[in-house]
Amino acid sequence: MLAQEVLVRRRAEILNALCSSGSAEHLERVADMLLAQGELGWEDYQNVLVPGRTLYSNARQLLDLLYTKGTDSCELFFRAVEQVLPEVQGAVFYSSENPSGSDGRVKPQGTSTEALLTRRPSLISKLQGCIDGVLGALVESGHFSSTDCDGVQLPIHTPSQQARRLLDHVRSKGESAASVVLQYIQQEQECVLTPEQRRPTLTKEFVKYQKKLSSSVSAQSRFLSTYGGTSHMPLDDIYTDVQLELPNSSADINKSMGFEDIVGPVGTLNEDADTVLVSGEAGSGKSIWLQRLHLHWTRGAAVQDFLLLFPFSCRRLNSEHRDLSVQELLFQHCCWPDREQEEIFQFILDHPHLVLLTFDGLDELKQSFSDEHRICCPNQRAPVHVLLFNLIQGSLMKGVRKIVTSRPEAVGPALKKHLSKEVHLKGFSPSGIDCFVRKHHSDPNEAAKVLESLHADTALLGLCHSPVLCWIVSQCHKELLGCGEGSPQTVTDVYLVILQHFFQHHNTLKSGIGVSWLQQNLETVLHLGKLAFEGISNSNYIFSVTDLETCGVTESDICIGFLIQSKDMSLAHSICYEFLHITMQCFFAAMSVILSSNAGRPAILKLFEPQETKKSLNNACFRGCLSSSNTQQISEEHPTTGEKTNLQITATFVSGLLSQRYQKLWLHCSSSVLVEKKAKQVARYLSKGMQQHFRSIPQPVQGEKKSMHAMPEFVWLIKCIYEMQESRIAKDAMSKLEVGHLKLTYCNIGPVECTALAYVLQHLKSPVGLQLDNNSVGDVGVEQLLPCMHICNSLYLRNNNITDEGIRKLIDKVIHLDSFQKIALFNNRLTDACTQHFSYLLKTRQNFLSLRLGNNNITAEGAKQLAEGLKCNNSLQYLGLWGNRIGDEGAEALAKALQNSKSIVWLSLVGNGVGSTGACALSNIIRNSPSLEDLWLTENCITRTGVESLIQALKHNDRVKSVWLKNNDLSSAEVEEMQQMESRLVF
Ligand code: ADP
Repeated sequence: MLAQEVLVRRRAEILNALCSSGSAEHLERVADMLLAQGELGWEDYQNVLVPGRTLYSNARQLLDLLYTKGTDSCELFFRAVEQVLPEVQGAVFYSSENPSGSDGRVKPQGTSTEALLTRRPSLISKLQGCIDGVLGALVESGHFSSTDCDGVQLPIHTPSQQARRLLDHVRSKGESAASVVLQYIQQEQECVLTPEQRRPTLTKEFVKYQKKLSSSVSAQSRFLSTYGGTSHMPLDDIYTDVQLELPNSSADINKSMGFEDIVGPVGTLNEDADTVLVSGEAGSGKSIWLQRLHLHWTRGAAVQDFLLLFPFSCRRLNSEHRDLSVQELLFQHCCWPDREQEEIFQFILDHPHLVLLTFDGLDELKQSFSDEHRICCPNQRAPVHVLLFNLIQGSLMKGVRKIVTSRPEAVGPALKKHLSKEVHLKGFSPSGIDCFVRKHHSDPNEAAKVLESLHADTALLGLCHSPVLCWIVSQCHKELLGCGEGSPQTVTDVYLVILQHFFQHHNTLKSGIGVSWLQQNLETVLHLGKLAFEGISNSNYIFSVTDLETCGVTESDICIGFLIQSKDMSLAHSICYEFLHITMQCFFAAMSVILSSNAGRPAILKLFEPQETKKSLNNACFRGCLSSSNTQQISEEHPTTGEKTNLQITATFVSGLLSQRYQKLWLHCSSSVLVEKKAKQVARYLSKGMQQHFRSIPQPVQGEKKSMHAMPEFVWLIKCIYEMQESRIAKDAMSKLEVGHLKLTYCNIGPVECTALAYVLQHLKSPVGLQLDNNSVGDVGVEQLLPCMHICNSLYLRNNNITDEGIRKLIDKVIHLDSFQKIALFNNRLTDACTQHFSYLLKTRQNFLSLRLGNNNITAEGAKQLAEGLKCNNSLQYLGLWGNRIGDEGAEALAKALQNSKSIVWLSLVGNGVGSTGACALSNIIRNSPSLEDLWLTENCITRTGVESLIQALKHNDRVKSVWLKNNDLSSAEVEEMQQMESRLVF
């Protein structure tokens, strides 16, 4: 098909590829390339990129123009698209038979002006870092006036647009101006300046402002005010490193992601974007991590490339109801410049790369992210959420770096496309838990005792990966740990203990005999519960004194410590309160649902009804369960994803509190009949929710197993069932699930979720393949999964931070389970120490089928251990060791063990440093094994000798389908020759 034809047929797709990001950059870059190649003349170029016309109209104009120019122009266009949007692969639209066709078109560059034209694309990228300098040189040489400079540096333009304007201006000034630009760029390239040298000169007022901002950020971040409610703990004393991970990257890259890595280039997926997202579950430590970053910046210990850092809390931005400009947002919400506001703001506009904005808790913003309402003028006033969204997507203040934190559920595709990268915050590592406990307890003996009992109770240890739970467990260690039989297992258990703990520490009243702690503090729980519940239903997390009064919260209720004063520079004059943590607010909301007589059915319906119908209902049912005295306006909007998550957390607590085990707790506090009714209602909803999931499973493709890919709510339902701790409900929920494969990849499954999964899945009727790839299961999670291993025939745990210790425990269990036949552990933290366990498994189990250990740290020693097991095994069909380091020695050991194997079908030793010695040994498997079909040896260092040996062996075997040998030590002539000799070799 001709390029011209493709341009018409695939017009809509092409337009989308160029414009759907909302940024004009792609289209402008394509136009630059066509201009440089002489495909577009100046007039064409200006007719295409008309300022003020919509992006799509400009793109349409370009396509129309190219169509009229003919098929060659269209071909060049597709090639330019291919370069500008490699991820879309221009070749998908059109692939040319004459890929080098354009080269001859580049015009010779005799003069400097011509060079500006033909080198336009690369000049634009080089100019972006030094526009100030080039303008300076042009002014100095008398080519540019200050009005010219202003025209170039209009703040509404992105750095690349400024570079384009500069080139266009220079063109109109003639040859000598063009040579000034070229000379400047050449000098720049010759002496690459350090960032330090490139810094602009700072005025006295700017420096004063910088200090003022820094000291107010420092004052805000030095203490952990949520700590223990009333006491303030220095952040330095308690801060413990958390785990930050890039999605889909190997454990090595993530070893220690420091603050610089977060703002730096590591893991960047979208070069055009300036926003980094740090996502993590509630309580995983996002706010504290950000607080630590702020503190480090104020001390000059991190992110020093940024001269100004403006911290925002989305929770607090909710209370800003005025329309603001960016300048007002920065100055009024963070730090007010005493003088020269305009000068300071201009500095920010001129040097966006020196400014960092942080937004904590995007999920708590009342509005969901949307990129529909665009503004790009920094002086334009708009509602704060609109400013925030435009800052995030870069249409406002392009180049300013932003870090946003959020819970993962609140991050939709609309936001994702504006992110330069996403980093997952996964709470404490196992050693982080130990470190935190040691910091928390000043007495080392006490810390040791706490750790000892924590390690003896893995369900509780699993909970401690979440920093907020680790804090509660440490705080209440006396009540929680070492209490034997009835030790806490669920999150609800832990929150009930912290409630009791706080009350006991603040109660002056002596409780009467037989009066429970709840009875004694019922009034406080009801007041706080009401406040929390109304807040959750209304996305309100900060409460004014009036809010408190409306819900009857008294001074003595506040003193208990669940509410803390909200600190915000902009709200300095009005006292506001918030709950210690959002999860605490959810817990109180849940208490309120159980305790209040009127918050029955409608509230439970609201919390548990399936999400699809949730949208269609407004908050009327919620309002129905609030007392009429409540004057607070309830939002009519659909719940945002952040809100939904809070409803889900609340629902999880409601399930836990309605558990049979807590029936006694409600005696004399609420009607038992009512509580019983609510419990039944919740059990019904959970069962209904599960059934809905199962019904949505598509019928299997013929010959394949029925497979279910869990929707996000599946894990939540499982957690609710676990909180109830009633096996009857778990059994009932699982009785109707009939699948062969259960897929829970990328579902944020950590140890806590593993405990819940095992609790519920153990009731499955027939064995499944359990796929948990790309989660954070870890060793503790593996241990939590053990109770359901008997219903697993295969377990997929790729990329889950598992070490040899986790494997030891797993194999200990599955060695006795005959149905367990496959395991995949690609990209974990396994070393040679785990191979002895696998070896034992292979020796013991003669029906084990598949072992995949790719991308770990296994060397020749590990391979030898495996070989010991393989010698005695006659069932293994798939063995994957991709990306380890077994070398020739390891390959020889494996070859010896497998050379007469009648079961091995597929063997992968890709990327293992295997040379010809190894290849010669492996030839023996080809020669003798009657079962082998595929041998993968890509990315090794096999030379001609090795391949020749493989070819010889293949002569004796016609069962082998392919031997993969791409990227070994062979010349192209050798490759060609060998390919001729044996067509089953794949190079
Ligand atoms: P998130 O913002 O993810 O909901 P927070 O950052 O508010 O979670 O953390 C909740 C609580 O957990 C904090 O109040 C603190 O007690 C504890 N915490 C979180 N991160 C850390 C950390 N890195 N070091 C010590 N304690 C932490």
